Amino acid sequence: MIDVGVNLTNTRFADDLENVLDRAKNKGLTNILVTGTSIASSQQAVKLCQKYPDFLTCTAGVHPHDADKVTTNFIDELTQLAQLDCVKVIGECGLDFNRNFSSQRQQITVFKQQIELATRLNMPLFLHQRDAFELWLELLTPYVNKIPAMVSHCFTGNKQQLEQCINAGMYIGITGWVCDERRGLELQQLLQHIPLKRLLIETDAPYLLPRTIKPRPKNNRNEPSFLEYIVKTIVENTDHSISEIIKHTSQNAQQIFALSTLKETTENV
Ligand SMILES: [Zn+2]
Repeated sequence: MIDVGVNLTNTRFADDLENVLDRAKNKGLTNILVTGTSIASSQQAVKLCQKYPDFLTCTAGVHPHDADKVTTNFIDELTQLAQLDCVKVIGECGLDFNRNFSSQRQQITVFKQQIELATRLNMPLFLHQRDAFELWLELLTPYVNKIPAMVSHCFTGNKQQLEQCINAGMYIGITGWVCDERRGLELQQLLQHIPLKRLLIETDAPYLLPRTIKPRPKNNRNEPSFLEYIVKTIVENTDHSISEIIKHTSQNAQQIFALSTLKETTENV
């Protein structure tokens, strides 16, 4: 299994990262894509990848929440990071008009610059979107044939939006949002409409702890070893088997991100 979205640079992993990674390996994970959300966190992600080169790879990018904080040369800094072997994708980038932690205008500017960077470097994009679907898709549409792959990370949209993403050739990242018996119901019903060749799985840890975990971990923290709960919920809501989900999501991730992974040993979901 490959977890394509983990915020491993989050301080909540600072004290026991080694154990978190060991637990993930014991659950059959073969690679983790560490999410960079700012220049600083992308640099930290690179450092982690250099420490665990056979297990970690990462993105480099600026999240819409951080758009207001970029310096004038942030694209140069991302360009440099993107040259490194462990950096496989530009992102997490996109638009978030739900929380508006950065001004919408600046979010758009910073997003556009990263779309152009991915085009120039011929690298995939790892995309965030909340309450900005129409504009987000409009900005991406001219680039669908120029960028090797686009990942709609933590997809939580409706059926029409799912179809639009799939028609644009995107990959769909499913997180523990789908394990939520309240707000995840719509997404559960959409799972059967996601072609296996477009499906990716991600914990988005430490966020989005799957609500299907019983009992809940005391620290309330999500981690990559819980990826199996997302797989289980996908299996419960589709005709696919566990091994099919693991096989296809791993193949997809490897294809998009050209990952060098640990040998698949245990698949004890
Ligand atoms: Zn996100």
